[in-house]
Amino acid sequence: VKATGSGTYFFHEKEMNAQMHARHRAETDLRLAIENEQLEVHYQPVFCLERGHIIGAEALVRWNHPTRGMVSPAEFIPLAEQSGLIDDLGGWVLRRACNHAKSWREDLRVAVNLSPAQFENPALALTVASILEQTGLEPSRLELEVTESVLLRDNAVNIAVLDELSDLGVSIALDDFGTGYSSLSYLHRFSFDRIKIDHSFVRDITRNGGSLKIVRAIIMLAHSLGLHVTAEGVETDEQFAIMRGEGAQHIQGFYIGAPMPVSDFLARVQNPDTP
Ligand code: C2E
Ligand code: CA
Ligand code: CA
Ligand code: CA
Repeated sequence: VKATGSGTYFFHEKEMNAQMHARHRAETDLRLAIENEQLEVHYQPVFCLERGHIIGAEALVRWNHPTRGMVSPAEFIPLAEQSGLIDDLGGWVLRRACNHAKSWREDLRVAVNLSPAQFENPALALTVASILEQTGLEPSRLELEVTESVLLRDNAVNIAVLDELSDLGVSIALDDFGTGYSSLSYLHRFSFDRIKIDHSFVRDITRNGGSLKIVRAIIMLAHSLGLHVTAEGVETDEQFAIMRGEGAQHIQGFYIGAPMPVSDFLARVQNPDTP
């Protein structure tokens, strides 16, 4: 780095270079992590109120970094999205989750998150189709979770991709419902199978009468559109009881179980010691 102009300018340039260097290094690390099996998929159980037992799990990726320990996906998913690694990472997670689910009891389903950035690849549905074929998982056992930002960006193209995915026989869930800008308008742009009510509403239902009214209205709206509802982030028996009373079909959250390694999930479903 050459000092051109003022010291301040030089300082900024140095700092920017340091930042770029750090980011480049993080990207290289992540690329190696995908190749070297440092990634792991954990499973958070999903409880069905009607059946009274766990009916599947959401796949959540984990990065076990050799020196930093467990790195949160909230940190490395955005990095993967910015650096173009998201296709590889997303494909890796999907393949791993479908492989796992294929070995589970046949009534167990798996949900996998898709990043909006994966929709920039026009071959997304083709990739999903080939992973289903290679792993032999019944499409009806796979749910894909997308956020409404998928419908925000270039929505005609993305809606076409959602239709292609849906045609494969997988179900499509709208994740983090209620956190975006104009959620209601997204509901009729594509016929989702399920909405997942964001944990921020669920967290506040016992403290804040407004949140309970919103949750109630969301569930009524979802049901009138023929959509199933999952309540996310249920942590207490009180929240569980309220969401059951309000008519949510599925419950997810620490109250049922935190995301866990696949072996723990399997032990859990073999021994249905549920609330
Ligand atoms: P998400 O899809 O909304 O996943 C739910 C997050 O809430 C998970 O965080 C989960 O551990 C956490 N959670 C579950 N139950 C509770 C609860 O009762 N209370 C609270 N406070 N939190 C709970 P996690 O695993 O850190 O994942 C964060 C986000 O990273 C996910 O949010 C998702 O957007 C993204 N992510 C994770 N895995 C993948 C992946 O394979 N692909 C993509 N594209 N994104 C992923
Ligand atoms: Ca999700
Ligand atoms: Ca459908
Ligand atoms: Ca969510």
